[in-house]
Amino acid sequence: MSYENGLTREKILIVDDVPENLKLLGEILKSKYKVSVANSGERVLEILRLRKDFDLFLLDIMMPEMDGIELCKRIKSDTELFDVPVIFISALTDIKDKSQAFESGGVDYITKPFNREEVLLRVETHLKIRGLQKELKLKNMELQENLNKLRELERLRDNLVHMIVHDMRSPLTGVLSMFEILKIECEGLKNQEIMEYIKSGYYSANTLIEMINSLLDISRLEEGKLPLNISRENIKEIMSEAIKTIALNVKKMDVITEMSDDSIYVDCDKELIKRVIINLVNNSIKHSCAKSPIVVKVEKDIEFITISVIDDGIGIPEEYHKKIFEKFGQVEMRQEKKKYSTGLGLTFCKLAVEVHKGKIGVESSEGKGSRFYFSLPLCRQQ
Ligand code: ADP
Repeated sequence: MSYENGLTREKILIVDDVPENLKLLGEILKSKYKVSVANSGERVLEILRLRKDFDLFLLDIMMPEMDGIELCKRIKSDTELFDVPVIFISALTDIKDKSQAFESGGVDYITKPFNREEVLLRVETHLKIRGLQKELKLKNMELQENLNKLRELERLRDNLVHMIVHDMRSPLTGVLSMFEILKIECEGLKNQEIMEYIKSGYYSANTLIEMINSLLDISRLEEGKLPLNISRENIKEIMSEAIKTIALNVKKMDVITEMSDDSIYVDCDKELIKRVIINLVNNSIKHSCAKSPIVVKVEKDIEFITISVIDDGIGIPEEYHKKIFEKFGQVEMRQEKKKYSTGLGLTFCKLAVEVHKGKIGVESSEGKGSRFYFSLPLCRQQ
């Protein structure tokens, strides 16, 4: 745009091989815009080699040698000019030309003989649209810049959290060891109150370490940096090891396993998949009453096995089915007392299953129990 007498004046290039048309259109437009003229396509290309600051082109369709349509295609193929609007000048009867003109990238046409109001209105409309498009482009660029900044800040924050979490693990492990020693040393003490304090300290330190480990594993899985130890594993073995581990920490549990085939093999990281099963079964134990058993079911189809953990517990409202798999996602406003939860377990499960190219999900509704399931690709040769 050029500035004349403090006013912004858009630049228009009119191209026509008929001098009278150039004169007439120039007269109409020059009161509002900065007008340049050219009498052939070749001349336009020469001009465009020197300057590309036009805001709109008015091109006659019928010109000898290079016609308006060819010229328009050339303009549209220039990366600096492709979004500058092209309005064609045509005779009323040239319907075929008009459709070609639009196909070549033109936005509008003005018919001869010229009507002053129409010319001004069409030009003004397209310049306005271009102005708005420029504004939009600028806003998009601003948005993209802000998004990049935000992503960078997020990355810095994640690094910081990772560093803090990582560095907390060693001193906490020290605290845990101290509580372990205290527990052993004070085993025979008559003062039960002190023993309870020690147990509670031990429990809290252990919970914090578990939380730190989950956070670190999740961030390593997210970054694809958790080393996987993939081998061919019997799913029955993984399940029974997982259930044994759970039994070590849970006083009372009733878990039924259902499996039609004892020798189903998957290529997986055994420890990771075991931890997924432990997480899901522990959740079922945590969120259901001890009366009905928890069922762990294995089903096999042609390409996948699906492991389901089914409970008869409090269930999960539909609106939380996605959220609980996100970091720190929990069902809010529940009256579950003393159920310690970080909301990291299912995030870990999701990432661990996905790293095996599997899928995880839940079917549940409030008060009607839950079925958490995950699928893993089967080994091709069983
Ligand atoms: P945490 O690791 O703290 O147990 P999870 O990510 O495993 O957290 O679970 C997130 C939330 O999903 C829990 O706080 C609970 O509200 C809900 N949830 C998970 N499993 C069940 C289940 N079997 N029955 C009911 N609610 C569940």
